[in-house]
Amino acid sequence: MRREDTKEEAAFRAEVRAWLEAHAPLIGEGWARAGHAHTPAAEQAWFDRCRAWQQTLYDAGWGAITLPEAYGGRGGGPAQQLIFDEEAASFDVTTGFLSSSIDLIAPALLAYGTEAQKERFLRPLLRADETWCQLFSEPDAGSDLAALRCRGELSEEGWRVNGQKLWTTSAQHCEWGFLLVRSDPDVPKHAGISFLLVDMRTPGIEVRPLPTITGGRHFNEVFFTDVRVPAENVVNGPGGGWPVARLVLMHESVSIGTSHLRNDGAEALVELAIRRGRYEDPLLRQALARTWIEERVLGWLGDRIRDSVLDGAPPDVDGSVVKVLWAESRARKSDVALDLLGAEAMLEGEDAQGRGYWQNYMLDRYMGTIGGGTVEVHRNGIGERVLGLPREARPDREVAFRELKGGVSD
Ligand SMILES: Cc1cc2nc3c(=O)[nH]c(=O)nc-3n(C[C@H](O)[C@H](O)[C@H](O)COP(=O)(O)OP(=O)(O)OC[C@H]3O[C@@H](n4cnc5c(N)ncnc54)[C@H](O)[C@@H]3O)c2cc1C
Repeated sequence: MRREDTKEEAAFRAEVRAWLEAHAPLIGEGWARAGHAHTPAAEQAWFDRCRAWQQTLYDAGWGAITLPEAYGGRGGGPAQQLIFDEEAASFDVTTGFLSSSIDLIAPALLAYGTEAQKERFLRPLLRADETWCQLFSEPDAGSDLAALRCRGELSEEGWRVNGQKLWTTSAQHCEWGFLLVRSDPDVPKHAGISFLLVDMRTPGIEVRPLPTITGGRHFNEVFFTDVRVPAENVVNGPGGGWPVARLVLMHESVSIGTSHLRNDGAEALVELAIRRGRYEDPLLRQALARTWIEERVLGWLGDRIRDSVLDGAPPDVDGSVVKVLWAESRARKSDVALDLLGAEAMLEGEDAQGRGYWQNYMLDRYMGTIGGGTVEVHRNGIGERVLGLPREARPDREVAFRELKGGVSD
């Protein structure tokens, strides 16, 4: 049972609601949740509209509710952010990728940035005048991120960066990127990493889109060839990048844990089963019941996290538990849907029922099980944090990166 608002929370909710009613269309009247076509022009248009909404929010004082007023935030608490998000969910507006990128880089700048970096970067970040992409993963560094090899060398002329990043969401749209580089291969792998703030318009940066199986183009490979980065654009000093990266990843996992608490589709699957005359099929009924139960469990986990946030307490549900349940339940739903569609599941676009909604859902299933850390890696985290199992052996922790298999050879 969800707890009721206090008097102050109810007043805040009413203020939020009144502002949204005056400034945002209700769901069904506008664009935000209608999805968008997978062409570069349509994706740019989507990004621009997300940016415009973040700018509207910022100008009205809602764009950075929990951040300090000194840097353009509202100075409020997580409970206010939660109430705002709950109310905004009824309206046809979204900041899309931008709010998650703000949620990752703003806390890192606040915790580890110099005063000059905070002054220079926070306001344009929060107003989305400058948007940011995350340049972490590489072809051989994903789950084991500290194995990254993109080279960053510091000299009197500043940083020189050479190497490749992969799976960089929205790099083609963003003005700035937060980048992890290997700055010292002669120390153990976690100690030789630096965290740089990079202007994506710098000569030597090439962004190549990677179309996905759904036709989407939000992923990119990013190549760096002799890219110059000012010496002062390092966060937490040369070699101090790993704790900053850890903070970013922690915020990513919290945001993933809390953004997947509402899941839907189980009722649509029941309707599909009835329409297809399969509702009495005992095996199918079991699968339908499972998807329905998992949706309810996610909802209850969401209520628990919500109430902790409102009470100002740390959530007592581990974000990895939510992520694994959400991602795997979503994948199971696509299996049930394809079973129900039978041969029709091979159709796509206008030829397919519901314009290929379930087909697209199936093709997109790996986004959930890989993005923000794979479900296997999240299971390791649950084992260590929740169940108290021994940590995985890490024999490479004390060895200079250069000595490791796949380390640098220069
Ligand atoms: C939707 C989406 C958005 C993304 N956006 C970005 C972005 O903006 N910026 C960015 O830098 N990256 C981004 N990524 C990349 C993402 O962080 C990586 O894909 C993820 O960390 C996994 O790394 P990998 O793909 O290299 O797989 P690998 O690490 O190579 O894993 C391969 C397989 O091995 C398993 N495995 C690996 N290590 C272990 C272990 N210790 N125990 C058990 N199993 C293990 C994995 O679970 C997986 O099944 C994005 C990915 C997705 C899907």
